[in-house]
Amino acid sequence: MYPDSFVVKERGDNRTTEPHVLPIYATSSFSFENIDQGIEIFKNPESGHTYSRYANPTVDTVARKIADLEAFGLDLQAEAVMTSSGMAAISTLLLGVLKAGDKVLSQGNLYGGTTELLLGILRPLGVDTIFTDLRDLNRVDELLAQDPAIRLVYCESPANPTLACVDIAGLAACARHHGAWSAIDNTFPTPLLQQPFAHGVDFIVHSTTKYLNGHGNSIAGVVVGRDRELMRKTMWRAMKLAGTNCSPFEAWLTHNGLKTLALRMERHCTNALALAEFLEKHPAVARVNYPGLLSHPDHAFAKRQMRGGFGGMLSFELKGGLDAGLTCMNRIRFCALAPTLGDVDTLILHPASSSHLNVAREIREQNGITDGMIRVSVGIENIADIIADLEQALGK
Ligand SMILES: *Cc1c(COP(=O)(O)O)cnc(C)c1O
Repeated sequence: MYPDSFVVKERGDNRTTEPHVLPIYATSSFSFENIDQGIEIFKNPESGHTYSRYANPTVDTVARKIADLEAFGLDLQAEAVMTSSGMAAISTLLLGVLKAGDKVLSQGNLYGGTTELLLGILRPLGVDTIFTDLRDLNRVDELLAQDPAIRLVYCESPANPTLACVDIAGLAACARHHGAWSAIDNTFPTPLLQQPFAHGVDFIVHSTTKYLNGHGNSIAGVVVGRDRELMRKTMWRAMKLAGTNCSPFEAWLTHNGLKTLALRMERHCTNALALAEFLEKHPAVARVNYPGLLSHPDHAFAKRQMRGGFGGMLSFELKGGLDAGLTCMNRIRFCALAPTLGDVDTLILHPASSSHLNVAREIREQNGITDGMIRVSVGIENIADIIADLEQALGK
């Protein structure tokens, strides 16, 4: 799979050199045996390596592993392209499948950066986005029927930070019926808890920065597609030309994290459910958003399309609103206040002043992202420690 190692080539050292752990190919280019081979590889990029922006053995091994996870048990040959961040994955997807005049149909409650990218970068370039409640399939069908310029239906489920869910199979079928692509940001559930390809989706994006790595030490992303040929024609080309490629070191860190994904997700799910149940009973708490709770408005969607648990993310609102929320956050001692998620440590964030600061107030409020909302990425620590910290922070 890999070319001979440097040691073997340079020193003629033929002792065992096959690495047990994925090696990091920290090289910008790959040398050719002769010019004929070089010409052949440039003509047929799959026959060998040329330049690390096009393909790198470390990065591609990790991409393939994530594609295999997303396609596990399904009758399809998924292909993936790793990128320098989750935002780079989303940008690559949009650049890969859209052109000026095309439109995107999406939901108002997306990851804040995605909303900003669609409105601040894509709209001025002539790719407009229509936001609607993607849970309303009749409305989605109506919009797609009215406007053939809609080429992509883009969703998140469960979505950040309200954990709202959509009917993934219904959306994918509706998009396909009208000749549009469907794509989902699967960062929150990971392929362990939700496999959108099983529900007919065309493309999946991840911020691997989050659960797939899980240790908060790398930034990277991935686009996965169900059609290998289409991925090569669109995503690989967009990644290579926009230069959104992933660094081999970041891919390698992601690979280390992937090895414990199943163990981590299991603990994230049980801890988050226990914390959600604790918060729901607490007298200072007005509302808890966790798709595993029967009280969550989208519990039925989540139950139908997720398996093995409902993920590690939850959000809640205090009866005292913004002031009570900020006081609670300032009292946190064991958990960390940090603007990321999916780490092994419990992380707490105030969306209105951080991740969603640049999303217009009316879009935020229409989608339940209130000023008093607190988001928790529940870690894998002992659940008693997490609950004790929130209990003392909530006060009497
Ligand atoms: C963090 C995140 C992103 C952006 O990913 P980066 O790796 O920070 O670029 C996109 N979508 C979701 C759901 C996220 O949580």
